[in-house]
Amino acid sequence: MTRARAAVIGSGFGGLAAAIRLQAAGFDTTIFEKRDLPGGRAYVYRQDGFTFDAGPTVITAPDCLRELFAVADKNMDEYVRLLPVRPFYRVFWQDGLAFEYSDDTDAMEAQIARISPCDVAGYRKFRDYSDAVFRAGYERLAHVPFVDWTSMARAVPDLVRLKAYRSVYRMVSHCIRHQRLRELFSFHSLLVGGNPFTTTSIYTLISSLERKWGVFFPQGGTGALVQALVKLFKELGGDIRLDSEIARIITEAGRVTGVVGSAGKRESCDLVVSNADVVHTYETLLDGESRAARMRRKLRRMSYGMSLFVLYFGARRSYPHLAHHNVIFGPRYRGLLGDVFRRGRLADDFSLYLHAPSRSDPTLAPPGCETFYVLSPVPHLGKLPINWRVEGPRYADTIVDYLEARYMPGLKAAIATRRIFTPEDFRDELNAHLGSAFSLEPRLHQSAYFRVHNRDKRIRGLYFVGAGTHPGAGVPGVVNSAKATAALVAIDFAAMNARATQRTKFSYA
Ligand SMILES: Cc1cc2nc3c(=O)[nH]c(=O)nc-3n(C[C@H](O)[C@H](O)[C@H](O)COP(=O)(O)OP(=O)(O)OC[C@H]3O[C@@H](n4cnc5c(N)ncnc54)[C@H](O)[C@@H]3O)c2cc1C
Repeated sequence: MTRARAAVIGSGFGGLAAAIRLQAAGFDTTIFEKRDLPGGRAYVYRQDGFTFDAGPTVITAPDCLRELFAVADKNMDEYVRLLPVRPFYRVFWQDGLAFEYSDDTDAMEAQIARISPCDVAGYRKFRDYSDAVFRAGYERLAHVPFVDWTSMARAVPDLVRLKAYRSVYRMVSHCIRHQRLRELFSFHSLLVGGNPFTTTSIYTLISSLERKWGVFFPQGGTGALVQALVKLFKELGGDIRLDSEIARIITEAGRVTGVVGSAGKRESCDLVVSNADVVHTYETLLDGESRAARMRRKLRRMSYGMSLFVLYFGARRSYPHLAHHNVIFGPRYRGLLGDVFRRGRLADDFSLYLHAPSRSDPTLAPPGCETFYVLSPVPHLGKLPINWRVEGPRYADTIVDYLEARYMPGLKAAIATRRIFTPEDFRDELNAHLGSAFSLEPRLHQSAYFRVHNRDKRIRGLYFVGAGTHPGAGVPGVVNSAKATAALVAIDFAAMNARATQRTKFSYA
């Protein structure tokens, strides 16, 4: 029997993971990537001797990555080394308070006791809750496709028991009283684009997941992990084509038959896995396909996660008081998030994530220098349609002033190189709807069955993987979505082959 051909559109972590699983399962798989490098949001910039990972830096749940190598009978350690990062985060507030966030329970409780003794018991309660959510939401459901009501019905008792209708912030506040500690234990949902005030409390599982396995950084940067996955995929016989934007998915009589590149070249295939933005896929790649109309209408009604403004910079000096991952809270929490998610305002104050990877791997900067990026959550373009080409450089200067005044003395004079990435770049470079950095918002009514399914209901041979599908954004999320998608493909094609075999037997009987 000839091998079925799979086209994967996009080489984000989800696309790479799906492609590896399909190729290992016997599909002839080709990845088509629009940009000149693989990785999607995990792109890499090399500039003036500095290496900048563009996106994900907090690598958690290493086992879901290890599994990708295991399906190919390989050992991840022979491809890339994951360095443990400690503390997980160094957290700063404007009033001078700082916190070393890690999996060291005694050290965590000692710090909490110094800030708010009555919250130690609440922290333990929060830990127990997030562990329970982790078992139900991650271990049991993260890799399971929600393609019908019965799969959702099976999850409902757990969701009710865990009060998933409550927000992350409400759940944290139920356990913890001190305002700073409420911020500390609720910010994690921002890592996957969710407002802690509206994101389902299921996302508290991230803190459990970090405690269980730790936080890691690949030696050589996140780009080294992307390269390891590409190497594995190629060794399996897979084909990856860069600078190859797909303009259209071809369907005939409700079935996928190929893709067309932006230069007009047609490639036949038996199935497509789209790792591209879900709205881009339904609106642009399936433009004119009437079977996609219902999903187009549905996606127009849904809400999208925040965007990000990212400033990458190299400094000619070091800042030893910073950790690898730094979270810097500004003067407002609820107010600032309201500006980002509801009011669509570009605020004058900031809450920032500051990445200093040369703390873990000095090779990412020239000798005596340090590599950084700082990201600020900002509204997506649907809420704040400003001209970022004009606003971006000014906004970057304001962030540098803020960092210099409070955390990084002498920064302006020390900057050797810099570049920015704005919501317009998310839209134009990555085809991200409204320039969202994380696709669909992780709200309860947009999760699991209510998110974009890993398999389209009406177009045979069309599958999805990545941040817009179940379970959602973040590296573990999209890598798990690939497991769900690849399982569906395997089931569908096994059934098709069985039917074909039956027909063959019958006709020759
Ligand atoms: C700045 C930033 C920091 C983050 N930090 C973390 C973190 O620390 N930890 C974490 O776990 N997560 C983090 N995330 C989230 C995480 O990076 C993403 O959720 C995840 O990487 C998305 O993967 P994906 O599979 O959805 O694909 P994407 O990375 O979105 O890739 C999709 C790919 O499809 C390509 N494409 C689009 N349209 C086409 C087309 N028509 N033809 C061909 N190719 C196309 C794009 O070029 C892109 O390469 C971060 C995100 C950002 C933006």
